[in-house]
Amino acid sequence: MTRDMFSFDDNLAAPILEYCRNRLQLQPVELDFGGTSVDFAQALEGLLTAHGNDPTAVMELFTNVLAPRVISADSERFLAFIPAAPTKAALLMDMVVSASSLHAASWLESAGAVAAENQVLELLARLAGLPDGAGGTFVGGGSIGNLSALVVARDVGAHRVGGDGSLKIALSGDAHSSIASALRIIGVEPLYVPAVDHRLTAEALAAAIANDPHPDRVIGVAATAGTTNAGIIDDLAGIGAYATANDLWFHVDGAYGLAGLFSPTIRSAYDGIELADSFIVDPHKWLFAPFDSCALLYRQPHLARSVHTQHASYLDILHDDRNVEWNPSDYAIQLSRRPKGLPIWFSLAVHGTAAYGAAVDAALEIAHRAAQMIEAAPHVELVREPGLSVVLFRRLGWGPDDYARWSEQLVRDQIAFVTPTGWEGETCARFAFLNPHTSEAIVAEILATMA
Ligand SMILES: *Cc1c(COP(=O)(O)O)cnc(C)c1O
Repeated sequence: MTRDMFSFDDNLAAPILEYCRNRLQLQPVELDFGGTSVDFAQALEGLLTAHGNDPTAVMELFTNVLAPRVISADSERFLAFIPAAPTKAALLMDMVVSASSLHAASWLESAGAVAAENQVLELLARLAGLPDGAGGTFVGGGSIGNLSALVVARDVGAHRVGGDGSLKIALSGDAHSSIASALRIIGVEPLYVPAVDHRLTAEALAAAIANDPHPDRVIGVAATAGTTNAGIIDDLAGIGAYATANDLWFHVDGAYGLAGLFSPTIRSAYDGIELADSFIVDPHKWLFAPFDSCALLYRQPHLARSVHTQHASYLDILHDDRNVEWNPSDYAIQLSRRPKGLPIWFSLAVHGTAAYGAAVDAALEIAHRAAQMIEAAPHVELVREPGLSVVLFRRLGWGPDDYARWSEQLVRDQIAFVTPTGWEGETCARFAFLNPHTSEAIVAEILATMA
């Protein structure tokens, strides 16, 4: 069968559009299962041939074999890692981005998309209290956002301190794994600061730098606004003041937790974020956008521009005075890019910021209720009070194998996806809430399986 790949064909479009329409309406979204390669081997065997297949049949294969073997991050029963709970508005706009081949590397090519993305970045900068002129771009995730920001921190720091010898950036052991990974990539040594109850403080930072054999080689600090494991917010105000006074680059990793900027209830927990030289927050986490989206902001974008701008004869036109208004590719490790900020832009424009604050609060509320239920139950207890929307708790008498078996069975029974974590050397259970549809009944159902 010969098809014209580049002309619209309703036989091709119909099954796809119908799938999308149905998927967007699922309430609840089924949790589904993971899989092993054995599950797919037969179905995928010989599929990619010289001549292609009937689109309806391929879509059926996707629907019946592949899709059910992806655990749905947007299920209200997905409480592992950091879940996803994209708004319908954001998901639909993501489809528009795809259908339109929207791209947004440069102002020359994509002014309309960049203008909308920048409106969201400006809103985030304003919520954080960054000065006018702050800006950045959206990248594919927190890991690449942290890396892009720390590259700027390194170059600015290297320029400031000069000389030879390795540079250091301070962080706590509770920082996300992507920070240590970024430091390895950019050849900067980590200066691990002992945290105070898992919270990085200005005093501990100052002491660690004072004790370092080469305090003058410490060029920055990466704080966390909402640790992934426990939702703990570092002492941003103290660290920010220290960093400002000592000319250190102050980066804040808020991939998960900085969504709380939208909530008047907890806004004050982020005081000090206004001092950041750079910060990230992932819309694909607690800001209800689809994968994959991270907002990366700089206090002084020209510093990032001087580090990240790519130079080539075929790109010179992008930096021509007439076109240079705002090139997203100048602010991170990326050139071609989807406008990953458009889905959240559309959703914010439709629903307003207050709805975002309320949705953040809903996750805080269910975390609080879950903690109360854990305290009230005889067989489980809190490891610590919830941090943001993360709850760590233990089943009395259980070891690592018990948690692993329980977690597996929970998915098999389609009750929930909850994975164990470690806390101070102990294996425990962890809930991360952010789906507004996760109910007390679901939490009770999960806790009952541990009895
Ligand atoms: C999730 C997370 C990251 C990594 O973000 P990705 O989008 O998964 O790359 C970084 N930092 C923190 C604090 C996170 O929670």
